[in-house]
Amino acid sequence: MKARSAVCPASCRAFVMADTRRDLSAPPGYDVVVAGGGPAGLSAAIAAAMRGLRVAVCERRTLPIDKACGEGLMPPAVRALDEIGARGLIDRKGCARLDGVRLIEQRGRAVQGIFPEPGGLGVRRLVLSEALARRAREAGVEIRDGCAVTGYRTEKRRIIAETSHGRIAAEVLVAADGLQSRLRKLASLELPARGPRRFGIRRHFRIPPWSRFVEVYIAGRMEAYVTPVAADIVGVAILWEEVVPSDRVSFERMLRKFPILADRLAAAPAASRSRGAGPMLQRVRGAVAHRFVLAGDAAGYIDAITGEGLSLALASGLALGNILPRAIEQGATCRALREYERVVSRRFRRYAISTRAVLTASRYPLVHRGSMAVLRSFPRLFELAMKWAFADESPANAVSRQSFIPAGARDHDEPLVGVR
Ligand SMILES: Cc1cc2nc3c(=O)[nH]c(=O)nc-3n(C[C@H](O)[C@H](O)[C@H](O)COP(=O)(O)OP(=O)(O)OC[C@H]3O[C@@H](n4cnc5c(N)ncnc54)[C@H](O)[C@@H]3O)c2cc1C
Repeated sequence: MKARSAVCPASCRAFVMADTRRDLSAPPGYDVVVAGGGPAGLSAAIAAAMRGLRVAVCERRTLPIDKACGEGLMPPAVRALDEIGARGLIDRKGCARLDGVRLIEQRGRAVQGIFPEPGGLGVRRLVLSEALARRAREAGVEIRDGCAVTGYRTEKRRIIAETSHGRIAAEVLVAADGLQSRLRKLASLELPARGPRRFGIRRHFRIPPWSRFVEVYIAGRMEAYVTPVAADIVGVAILWEEVVPSDRVSFERMLRKFPILADRLAAAPAASRSRGAGPMLQRVRGAVAHRFVLAGDAAGYIDAITGEGLSLALASGLALGNILPRAIEQGATCRALREYERVVSRRFRRYAISTRAVLTASRYPLVHRGSMAVLRSFPRLFELAMKWAFADESPANAVSRQSFIPAGARDHDEPLVGVR
């Protein structure tokens, strides 16, 4: 994986130089403007507002926001929600405690591991979005939904976000605009993605959860994740590797690849329509530029196979909120923001190691069979691996991101074309 550049991207320097001539020296209306009201954007906004900064969030859709997701919050995500004061706002009827992960092979053989404290949480994205938005408003964040950030311009003393509803000036622009981030591209922080193209699709079913574990059904290079998200609803997310490019994807057809699961769900009515996302692999060459920061999926993503995206998104938001007051005091230069990049990189490296290991096992049947056999013989190993992957890191140590970007990316917030 390519190392991050230690200097500002060329585009960033160009912006700054252009600004010096054009600086209007008017004080910006906000300290921070956030593009994207997903978990990364809202957690960054909350954390920054909790530290006294004036924050506006521009979200192109209307809150609360649904998204293709397995909806399993791993222990670090639960801890991050606690830290920003949002966990208590989650509707109890719209979530379920998760005790751990159970991996289930085609023939039904299973191995499981218990989560470290504080355990996990299955939460529908709509419910999570509702709680985060409520907490953000409580903290004094101004949320502008139905407002897309279409571009930006950096000046010496401020950054101007161009939105569908006019311009907003701030000290810093946080681009938390998701997997296919437009702002990442505009900031020249993206790198081409190399590797298999993997996608995901999800649907909910009305059926009482039969387990307090996230169940992962494995069929070749496909995995189906079952997450309890309420007393009578489970979410099913299927991840797969694209062999032949196709826009026609059918959730039903994919579900049939997992006969044990398909049988269980045969009589359960669908409780949502299918939503797809991908390709998942996104590379970046850095997470900061002058007065500009990437957060969450926008800052790079590998795969959903380990269910850590929300942990990274929330932790990166939290880390950013902690670092921003000082960085702004120092002029929000690349250098001042580099601390955030270091913090998120540390966390991302851990995610990259676990995700790559699991992806390798899923791609090569021999490695897969071998690792399942090892885990069956030494079940404690699974728990130790989770303990390592979900280690408690204070926000100051949290999150990192490496490099990834789409080749022919599709809009991940919308259902894939042809998804039925
Ligand atoms: C199939 C699948 C299953 C997954 N399962 C899990 C799981 O079980 N557990 C887990 O932890 N993670 C999972 N993930 C990952 C997780 O969904 C993401 O990591 C997480 O949503 C990232 O949050 P974010 O805020 O960075 O991005 P998003 O949640 O995508 O939010 C970005 C927001 O920005 C908005 N936006 C985009 N462009 C603009 C713009 N120009 N202006 C204004 N707003 C804009 C979008 O509308 C969106 O609301 C899964 C991902 C996939 C694809």
